[in-house]
Amino acid sequence: MSTIYDKYEIVMGLETHVRVKSNTKMFCSCANALELASEPNQNVCPICMGFPWMLPVLSEWVVDLAVRASNALRSEVQEKSIFDRKSYFYPDLPMGYQVTQMYHPITIGGEVRTLIHGEEKKFRIHHMHIENDAGKLIHVSGKTLCDYNRAGSPLMEIVTEPDFRSKEDVIGYLEELQKLMRWCGASDADMEKWQLRCDVNISVRLKWETNFRTRVELKNINSFSSIGRAIDNEFERQIELYEAGQAPDQETRWWNDEKGYSTPLRSKEDAMDYRYFPEPDLPPVIISKAYIEERAIKELPIDRRSKYINTYNLWADDARILSSDRVISDFYEKLVERTNDPKKSCSYITTILFSIFEASPEPMGIADCKADAGEFAKVIQMVNNDELSSTNSKIVIEKLVFEWGDANSLVDTLGLRQKNDTEALQKIVEKVIAENPNQVNEYKSGKVNLFGFFVWQCMKASNGQGNPKIFTELIKNIIG
Ligand SMILES: [Zn+2]
Repeated sequence: MSTIYDKYEIVMGLETHVRVKSNTKMFCSCANALELASEPNQNVCPICMGFPWMLPVLSEWVVDLAVRASNALRSEVQEKSIFDRKSYFYPDLPMGYQVTQMYHPITIGGEVRTLIHGEEKKFRIHHMHIENDAGKLIHVSGKTLCDYNRAGSPLMEIVTEPDFRSKEDVIGYLEELQKLMRWCGASDADMEKWQLRCDVNISVRLKWETNFRTRVELKNINSFSSIGRAIDNEFERQIELYEAGQAPDQETRWWNDEKGYSTPLRSKEDAMDYRYFPEPDLPPVIISKAYIEERAIKELPIDRRSKYINTYNLWADDARILSSDRVISDFYEKLVERTNDPKKSCSYITTILFSIFEASPEPMGIADCKADAGEFAKVIQMVNNDELSSTNSKIVIEKLVFEWGDANSLVDTLGLRQKNDTEALQKIVEKVIAENPNQVNEYKSGKVNLFGFFVWQCMKASNGQGNPKIFTELIKNIIG
């Protein structure tokens, strides 16, 4: 059944603020409290409080991480970028202006590629600039309290082209952006901790139209789960206006996720004049080509994900898991490099290692493993060379997780090296067959399921060290 909504399409562009994971604030040495500080106004100083005569100094850490982020976005870092003052009065802004980059941002262009329903999609980046954050206002019983712990914290604002046509596009982009920021170390980009905030510019048009119609900016979208609701609501609101012979105003609206609707915040007419002008207290930021290249990122998570699916033939889900986190992905790359066995390396991580981590009382991951990737790779190689059974390999893996060790000597110390000596194994098989005449008769009269019983008895008799493949052959030779 078609509805009035079907003939329209949605067009969106995003402005995303990502908090830079530097130890200090942008222009002073106050702690950049990534987590909320225990007390309000703990991390403040005369610089971030905007006292007279105080001079800001740009943190190199912020530049470093912004360049890494830019490389992850495949964006072009500018040799010269310039700070501007954006003046406005608001109690959360002690300096009376925000330091941002209005005309000469640190980086221009770029893209984020991601898989949406198994297909690669590309969203273009217009530019990214760096700026400082404002403080936080807390409203209690008719009064307003100011907390400036966040004031002066570094932010990257990433502005896209209007390339989004569905909420799946937006969510896919944001998830990939989050991955990229973590991958390059620029930010943890956790939406719940306000390290990633997103404003969506939304317009609608008839599906065959090529021009853009009036756009509305939607603010206060604070979680992945609220994005879809906010977009659906605005899409329907604008269509209903057009269908009623009206048009949406160009305005900024505030999304109220609890109530499920947005309210106007300010219209184009009351847009503020921010009196932008070059920041006189800060020199231009000059970045050399060498500095950018030192922070280059060769393979992005999406490249690895595609490689895992197309070259290594992994399941899409495994490829997603192994490429979502850099520590896991680098570990996997090392295993494959040494074992040349992408599938088994994958299953040793996703089944054996992950279940060890899950069973641990303390939260843990690859980074907490005592032995390095090379030792884990040796275990996989021993299994592939029939020197270690896959059952026993789990024991060795567990040891390598919790105790430092050399895989080879561990296998010997634990007496787990698999015996491939056919003569010795033949004796075990003969003994097992001789000791179980009833089972042999039952097997011969058609109870073929009993074959596993003999293999298991032989494994037991060899203390788990006999090679089950050889046992299988030998048993077949005797009882058929
Ligand atoms: Zn400060």
